[in-house]
Amino acid sequence: MALGKSSHQGMKRVYTAQSITLVHHMMNVLENHGIASVIQNEDIYMAAGELPVIDCWPELWVADSDYERAKEIVDTALSDETTPGTLWKCPGCGEEHEPQFTDCWKCGESRPNQ
Ligand SMILES: [Zn+2]
Repeated sequence: MALGKSSHQGMKRVYTAQSITLVHHMMNVLENHGIASVIQNEDIYMAAGELPVIDCWPELWVADSDYERAKEIVDTALSDETTPGTLWKCPGCGEEHEPQFTDCWKCGESRPNQ
């Protein structure tokens, strides 16, 4: 599989994140809106094994014609996730937490994916 930058003619990068999980998540979000996307840099990311430098961050690309809509969906999804006041409940002990916390202070459980 030869994936050069040039193979993405007619496409635009709509999202990039350090975590492949986030990129996959965004891919699903776009898919739910009927927009197909491809992930670039995934193999580099896998090969790196650890946290990659920013050049190697996985990227999400969509067709030019989908870009405007995709960008809007991405922006909405991102702002949704940082909406203040969205409490999450610890799956371990049921304690409620502010959105900025990623781990339960009480029992150490990680915040579940929404
Ligand atoms: Zn807990």
